[in-house]
Amino acid sequence: MSAFEAVIGLEVHAQLLTRTKIFCSCEVAIGGEPNSRTCPVCLGLPGALPVLNAEVVHLAVRAGLGTGCTVQLTSVFARKNYFYPDLPKGYQITQAELPICLDGQLLLDDGKVARIQRIHLEEDAGKSIHGESGTRVDLNRAGTPLVEIVGHPDLRTPDEAVSYLRELRGILVTLGVCDGNMEEGSLRCDANVSMRLVGQAAFGTRVEVKNMNSFRSVRDAIAYEMTRQVGVIADGLAVKQETRLWNMDLARTESMRSKEEAADYRYFPDPDLPPLHLDRIWLENQRANLPELPAARKDRYARELSLDRNTANWLCEEPPRADAFDRTVANAPELAGSFATFLMSQVQGQLQRHERPWSDVAEAMPTLLRICGKWRAGQLSNRMLAEVLQAGFGDSARTLGAALALAEAEAGAVVSDDAALEPVVDAVLGQFSNEVSKYRAGQKQLIGFFVGQAMRQLAGKADAKALAALLIRKLEG
Ligand code: ADP
Ligand code: MG
Ligand code: ZN
Repeated sequence: MSAFEAVIGLEVHAQLLTRTKIFCSCEVAIGGEPNSRTCPVCLGLPGALPVLNAEVVHLAVRAGLGTGCTVQLTSVFARKNYFYPDLPKGYQITQAELPICLDGQLLLDDGKVARIQRIHLEEDAGKSIHGESGTRVDLNRAGTPLVEIVGHPDLRTPDEAVSYLRELRGILVTLGVCDGNMEEGSLRCDANVSMRLVGQAAFGTRVEVKNMNSFRSVRDAIAYEMTRQVGVIADGLAVKQETRLWNMDLARTESMRSKEEAADYRYFPDPDLPPLHLDRIWLENQRANLPELPAARKDRYARELSLDRNTANWLCEEPPRADAFDRTVANAPELAGSFATFLMSQVQGQLQRHERPWSDVAEAMPTLLRICGKWRAGQLSNRMLAEVLQAGFGDSARTLGAALALAEAEAGAVVSDDAALEPVVDAVLGQFSNEVSKYRAGQKQLIGFFVGQAMRQLAGKADAKALAALLIRKLEG
């Protein structure tokens, strides 16, 4: 394997967050009675004329600006001709020679810049539903607006591919272009993979892998495909150019069809749609009004909050998470770093355990910040913190914020006054006289042991700082 390296390029389809379809006023939504959201245009009836949805253009332009592309002032819609039951027109409207955006880039985790070739607009097809009584066609999805973001083959490892996809997803979600949901298919990724000898300049034959619906699947499918291709080459055979599907259950890729050539589609400009012209001033306005993008946000977290890369990446992975974090720590910047770590290490685990969505946390963030602050100040012991979080997240009867506040109150006041702590401290020092001698002989790290013992006696409900201070006074006084 080590004699070979992979060459990987991603093609990503993102469903645009518009209310209506790309060329008609049918609603875009998931589910519903089959064929209920259709009209002559998206059914592909002869003579029906497409009218471009302006919001689609707006979102594609945002996608392009967010990925450093050059937005084209003129782009052209083309017909991609092929026959399939879920495509009644016999062609898909897409952008071929003159797409709306060209030449962008994404910054990967390892510091590498991966280039984007182009972003073009297109319509989605319908869906074939294979049942026992035969195959039926649902055209509710037909005409759903998509952007396809085509990357250069600049990626070399499965991790780089995932990093590229994560970065792209973060930008699209931040800009409100796409909801980024890979499981539901509103963000879909096809991976082109080929192998070549290390040091070789020419690319090998590529295979396009489809059907991955999570970051995990993208990583696994590419890794599998790399090993498979090296095996083919080692057997003295040639890798076939084809499209393969990722089978998650069997953890392997399976041949779907041989690869079509562009010529097979007989692309030509769609005579029903005039070239799309953008106004230069409108475009500059769009550029000037972009929000902070994930890369800039991560830099800010590192610079202003001293967050480590891992934590910053994790926060920015889900833009609404970072938004809620920013809002919450705005008035408590001194707690920002520990709060971010707290969210990643403690809150994330609770969410998974109780299968709650992140939106719950957004609402409860101010309460969580207060709890984190108390914990950091020693007013909540580790054990009490665990109890409060467990009780709060496990309570489905009220909002998370209210449940946490209630659990916090029920956890009781923390013992912090010396009068209450002193009997316990004295008992611990009496019980561990050996350790007391060692401490006095210089083993100062034993302070943690004494605090732990006393804390145990107090069922974890003591102020750790007050406890340590009292112990030190007694031990050194
Ligand atoms: P199409 O898939 O429509 O034929 P392209 O030939 O432009 O379109 O390539 C599509 C994708 O394949 C791009 O993301 C590109 O980076 C990637 N790609 C092209 N050649 C290779 C290769 N030899 N190995 C891996 N990926 C490749
Ligand atoms: Mg392709
Ligand atoms: Zn329609």
